[in-house]
Amino acid sequence: KQKKTTYSFKSETKELMQLMIHSLYSNKEIFLRELISNASDAIDKLRYFNISSSVENKNDQFEIKILIDTINNQLTIIDNGIGMNEKELIENLGTIAKSGTKNFLKSLKKEKLKENNLIGKFGVGFYSSFIVSKKVLVHTKSAIDSNSEGLLWESSGSGDYSIKYLKKETIGTSITLQLKEKEKEFLEEWKIKNTVNKYSDHINVPILLKIVKKEKKEKEKKEEKNIWKKINQAQALWTKQQSQISDLEYIKFYKHITNDSQDPLIWSHNKVEGEKEYISLLYIPKIAPWDLWNRDNKKGLKLYVKRIFIMDDAEQFLPNYLRFVRGLIDSNDLPLNISREILQDNHIINSLKKVITKRILKLLNNMLVNNKENYIEFWKQFGAILKEGPAEDPINKETISKLLLFTSINNKSKEQTILLKDYVKNMPSHQEKIYFVTAESYEAAVNSPLLEVFKEKSIDVLLLSERIDEWMMNYLTEFENKKFQSVSKSDDSLNKLFSENKNKESTIEKKFTSFIEDIKKILGNKVEDVRITYRLTNSPSVLLTNENAMSTQMAKLFLSAGQ
Ligand code: ADP
Ligand code: MG
Repeated sequence: KQKKTTYSFKSETKELMQLMIHSLYSNKEIFLRELISNASDAIDKLRYFNISSSVENKNDQFEIKILIDTINNQLTIIDNGIGMNEKELIENLGTIAKSGTKNFLKSLKKEKLKENNLIGKFGVGFYSSFIVSKKVLVHTKSAIDSNSEGLLWESSGSGDYSIKYLKKETIGTSITLQLKEKEKEFLEEWKIKNTVNKYSDHINVPILLKIVKKEKKEKEKKEEKNIWKKINQAQALWTKQQSQISDLEYIKFYKHITNDSQDPLIWSHNKVEGEKEYISLLYIPKIAPWDLWNRDNKKGLKLYVKRIFIMDDAEQFLPNYLRFVRGLIDSNDLPLNISREILQDNHIINSLKKVITKRILKLLNNMLVNNKENYIEFWKQFGAILKEGPAEDPINKETISKLLLFTSINNKSKEQTILLKDYVKNMPSHQEKIYFVTAESYEAAVNSPLLEVFKEKSIDVLLLSERIDEWMMNYLTEFENKKFQSVSKSDDSLNKLFSENKNKESTIEKKFTSFIEDIKKILGNKVEDVRITYRLTNSPSVLLTNENAMSTQMAKLFLSAGQ
């Protein structure tokens, strides 16, 4: 019907393929991970399409097949997923439409040969099949587009690709890799099994393997049905009992859903039954992703409804200050056809968000109590994000404040390792408030003239020097009934703490009255007041702000933001 049309790859696609072939060579087996993950995505999409529309003859026998053909030196990955029509073929396999792949390309250029690193961070995608193939053929039939009876996409990966009509009986996609001469190891059964086991064991669909060999060719054709062997577990990990899942399985699953090359720091797996029914599997990563501070970075959990994959990056289940958490939620109560719009304002989601938030805070607290070393590592990576908590989540403010780490004068180190609990425990009995200073750097904070008298009188002060600190302290008002007090603001508690001899002070004050008046005249309305202070030991003077006024640090912040 339709004749063959040749298209040329976009130049960035060509570039990507060249770079990928050269720089990922030592990890070439990841092409299989990528093709299996695409097959599994395609099946998820069809499953979802089937339930959200009224299709008849629904197939629920989803599977991914891998055919090793040693006669023709080729490997075929077959799925019965959603398939593609012509437009989709051109869009998906002719350009780099995915932002993930774009980022990958950027980093590939920058970091060049640190490939291990890169593979961890990105799904490298379909084009990785050209690392091992001299030619790739994609035969596909769309489940949605009834006009599409079958199409064959083919390319040798060097500049262009072609698409032609070719009838296909079954819905789905089969991808055939004609292997390069030196890549014959991918025709070995053990190699495929190992690779699937390493990267794709937790794919939720059966992965079946069959090998066609020369000698037995005729016979095998007849026995085909019996020869497909299942090589993965094919059960959604989170549906199993906790006791039946090993740490290694949890870790593998984490890597599978995040593409992180590091193990997670800690995780929490919960099955809740009763009024609300859901399963959550939440992980705290070890290392912050490179784009954590990027506004449009991906965040959120994978959402499943009754075991069916609905979407990635569902943000509504996590507060912003816990956006570093990865994992999934599988709810029995949400409708299957839920959309991102509905997610915005749904009472089931809101109540799930609440329980998940509590669960994560508890998980962090357990880590703090049981393994402070680990917790400090966590804090180094994500502490600054958790500090957004008191402002964002007033309900859990107290719990969050127990998770905050600080440094202080007595700590004698830049490292934030002190809990508010520890600070309060070490307060002398006449100290009423928790004192803190904010500055642009640790050095500026620890050397602040405001601290002189505190140091002399051995009153500890929290030293805050991260950008978020000033903001956080606006919301952190008290801890264990002790108020927080900035040492750069005038305050009665300080006078109480440091004035020793009322008589002596009043004579001093008398003596300096006219001096103070002179200074006031000189400074005029540049200042609100000039006072004698007992807070300094080495410096002659210090600038303070009023109790209720914006702190100098905050004022600087606004100034630099142009306000
Ligand atoms: P990603 O999986 O990150 O989207 P890939 O390069 O792996 O990027 O794949 C690009 C796109 O090609 C996919 O998003 C999908 O739309 C399409 N695709 C790839 N493989 C299949 C498949 N087996 N079935 C249906 N669509 C596929
Ligand atoms: Mg992919």
